[in-house]
Amino acid sequence: MTEQQFDVAVIGLGAMGAQAVAHLAARGIKVIGIERFGPLHDRGSSHGDSRLIRLGYFEDPAYVPLLHRAYRNWRDLEARVREDLLTITGVLQIGKPGCHIVDGTIAACKLHNLPYDLLDQAQAARRYPAFQLDADEVAVLEPEGGFLRPEAATLAALRVAGADGAMLHFNERVLGITPSDGGMAVATDQARYRARTVVVATGSYIAGLVPELDQIAVPIRVVVGWFQPRDGLNTALGRMPGFLRDEGEAGSFFGFPVIGRDGVKVGKHAHFREVIDPEAPNAPVNEADRALLEDFIARRVPAAAGVSVGYATCRYTMLPGDDFLIDRLPSDPSVIVASPCSGHGFKFASVVGEILADLATTGESSLPIEAFSFASLARRLGTGADLAFGRRAAITTPRKFPNPPNGS
Ligand SMILES: Cc1cc2nc3c(=O)[nH]c(=O)nc-3n(C[C@H](O)[C@H](O)[C@H](O)COP(=O)(O)OP(=O)(O)OC[C@H]3O[C@@H](n4cnc5c(N)ncnc54)[C@H](O)[C@@H]3O)c2cc1C
Repeated sequence: MTEQQFDVAVIGLGAMGAQAVAHLAARGIKVIGIERFGPLHDRGSSHGDSRLIRLGYFEDPAYVPLLHRAYRNWRDLEARVREDLLTITGVLQIGKPGCHIVDGTIAACKLHNLPYDLLDQAQAARRYPAFQLDADEVAVLEPEGGFLRPEAATLAALRVAGADGAMLHFNERVLGITPSDGGMAVATDQARYRARTVVVATGSYIAGLVPELDQIAVPIRVVVGWFQPRDGLNTALGRMPGFLRDEGEAGSFFGFPVIGRDGVKVGKHAHFREVIDPEAPNAPVNEADRALLEDFIARRVPAAAGVSVGYATCRYTMLPGDDFLIDRLPSDPSVIVASPCSGHGFKFASVVGEILADLATTGESSLPIEAFSFASLARRLGTGADLAFGRRAAITTPRKFPNPPNGS
């Protein structure tokens, strides 16, 4: 059978892969995108109605230039598909003065000259009565924050990719990638393809095709819940901002105003850090999941503490330092690794797609991505860790994830 030939093959069509095929096709590159499930499935990381986006990045102000570009690219995509994908609501970041979320947001805003309002408990209660703050807590409002609609945004990227000539295959699983004649051979459960460059954007499944990341890119389970508000006025879109809340030792929580019919959505960042086998179906939501979110909403967002109307399970792919990895594989520069984003990658997907298109076409990007390199990851892992990124096996085959350690 003849192998179809492409400039670039993108494996995985979640948030990152969809954006990569869109940017590549827009540049006239002959690209195929291959996804093992159907479009917008729930066995990955990119479903669940809403994702926060904000500019004053408490995690590290170094992300801010990429965020500016991400906002611009989201607006370009909206213009192309004539659909609302990004809604500005403001994002309120709550915690005690000195905590990372509060201080980090203020530092990033100051460094990059971004607007913000610092509110004490009384001011926050007047402006945003949906939230319950302790007397010694403050809230930083970032007016340019808001939320993205992940399903609509991913679908929009796939639509423009298709319109620009990308070939998109769903329900086709990539089994292995192997160097071949100066390019790569991509074997699926249905066919074989050849591509000059392969982008692996397989999210929680990444170690199946990039075994160098086994035990390094770790998939964990996250559960979010939707609650019918007790106070529909103060939780309405337009009155209640998106939020992040530092709870000290108990971690941090995030949430959204009422979007559509389903009520206020909340989740805990990294949930119980429960490591999962990505190949296994999502485990059902259990009593501990529900109790965590119900307790939080009753204490901290009482205006939304009505009946719970639904829960969803999703996955984070965690890296040491909770950072990203976007780089060519040191042992095989024809392979670009794109996915692990430690649970905060969606907002960047529109710029990650651009970076992946840069790397796949020119081998480099003018955007600031050194912090997301294998070299940087090896430094975070410590001495000798770069040995793990040595020459890859001739062919990689999906393997069973080893027994996960107990989630902690
Ligand atoms: C509950 C939750 C809340 C979040 N909140 C935020 C937020 O507020 N803001 C934010 O910026 N980020 C947030 N994130 C993180 C963000 O959603 C993820 O970083 C992002 O969606 C990851 O996209 P991805 O393309 O890497 O992975 P995915 O969307 O999972 O895509 C990977 C795709 O690869 C496919 N695939 C895997 N293996 C193969 C194979 N062998 N062959 C073919 N296809 C394959 C999978 O089926 C999947 O569709 C959140 C994540 C979760 C789970």
